[in-house]
Amino acid sequence: TRSTRPQRLLKAVQKRATRGDPQSVISAIDHFCRHSEWAMNVGDEKGSILDSVVSELNPEKVLELGTYCGYSTVRIARLLPPGARLITLEFNADYAAIARQVISWAGLEDKIQLVEGASEDWIPRMKEHFGIETFDFVFLDHWKDRYLPDTKLMEDCGLLRKGTVLLADNVICPGVPDYLEYVRNSLSYKSSYFKSHLEYTKAEDGLEKSVFLG
Ligand code: SAM
Ligand code: MG
Repeated sequence: TRSTRPQRLLKAVQKRATRGDPQSVISAIDHFCRHSEWAMNVGDEKGSILDSVVSELNPEKVLELGTYCGYSTVRIARLLPPGARLITLEFNADYAAIARQVISWAGLEDKIQLVEGASEDWIPRMKEHFGIETFDFVFLDHWKDRYLPDTKLMEDCGLLRKGTVLLADNVICPGVPDYLEYVRNSLSYKSSYFKSHLEYTKAEDGLEKSVFLG
């Protein structure tokens, strides 16, 4: 049977990237997506905005919602300080299996915990299961109808503290109007938009950075 896109993406990594070199893994995936097949990674253009937010924050506890093939996971983890931890959630077992190999190729498995399952099931278990008090940084990039309910769930579960930064991808394309309405109007957040383009295209998209004020 024909291979899947994530399998072909992994092949491109194994062919073009150097083991233990996260930057080469990122470049190999971007090259594959620009020259062979589009895929739903945050991509290089929005990725550099993601990099600057992570670098400025220097977070120790990070949550990513939506792993897919592990592109943004590698992108974030490569910038984390020693001892920092990134938990990434993915409910598609086939994608998770590819992501594990991409993460391992990048040599970042010590920093990353890939958890298989749905965000709405795992967010309430973060404290008891992973001993997490609060997250410093959350990257939201799973299905768009879950941004708002999962944000409210993280609030209710006490996973956000004063200063926690939420960074949401694809707020214009495909768009998350209910989430934007919430973070932009709530007194509990200070929110700003970073204009960019949908991964590997010229269509407008952007990231919304929302600082939780408590
Ligand atoms: N963050 C990745 C990157 O930039 O490389 C891309 C993630 S992709 C856009 C979204 C992923 O979220 C898909 O792999 C999908 O299976 C997963 N997903 C969607 N809803 C989810 C949920 N509620 N819980 C866990 N995973 C979810
Ligand atoms: Mg995205």
